[in-house]
Amino acid sequence: MLRRADACVAVRELRTPKDLVGLDGLIVPGGESTTIGKLLVAYGLEQPIRQAANHGLPVWGTCAGMILLARDIVGGEPDGRIGLMDLTVRRNAFGRQVDSFEVDLAFAGLDRPLHAVFIRAPLVERVGPEAEPLASLPDGRVVAARQGNLLATAFHPELTPDTSLHAWFIERCRAAAACL
Ligand code: GLN
Repeated sequence: MLRRADACVAVRELRTPKDLVGLDGLIVPGGESTTIGKLLVAYGLEQPIRQAANHGLPVWGTCAGMILLARDIVGGEPDGRIGLMDLTVRRNAFGRQVDSFEVDLAFAGLDRPLHAVFIRAPLVERVGPEAEPLASLPDGRVVAARQGNLLATAFHPELTPDTSLHAWFIERCRAAAACL
């Protein structure tokens, strides 16, 4: 998706702390926050990621990644997490796998609605003063937020052809890299 959004972007996987060297941005993907949290601990990634983010590295957490970015988690705390965003996030807030759904979202900063796929998704229950909401469901419940260079989305932006959020994130990465 990143390469499709911008052919100049080089993308690689982060698995160990040394993979952080030279990165201009990091996406913590969807999946299972319990598992990713265990791997963050097992590979010693928690502190290095937190440190890089504190130094301005843009980090985007999607779905399970959003859970790992939140400071407060309801519904089961993973062993490890990044925990930097002033948010309270509820895991599996919409129910089980069969309760997954898709919806068009108005997204702050984008000029057209974004089609969003929610898979056993979390929800932002509280947006603290350090963070700002970026998108809500039609009933007002928050599903995306930002705190400086940290971005959290409850849905899976890689499952639709729309690259507008990826393009937005790449811009943040370019701006942050220019400042570092
Ligand atoms: N339900 C998962 C969790 O709690 C997140 C699901 C997802 O990333 N699609 O971690």
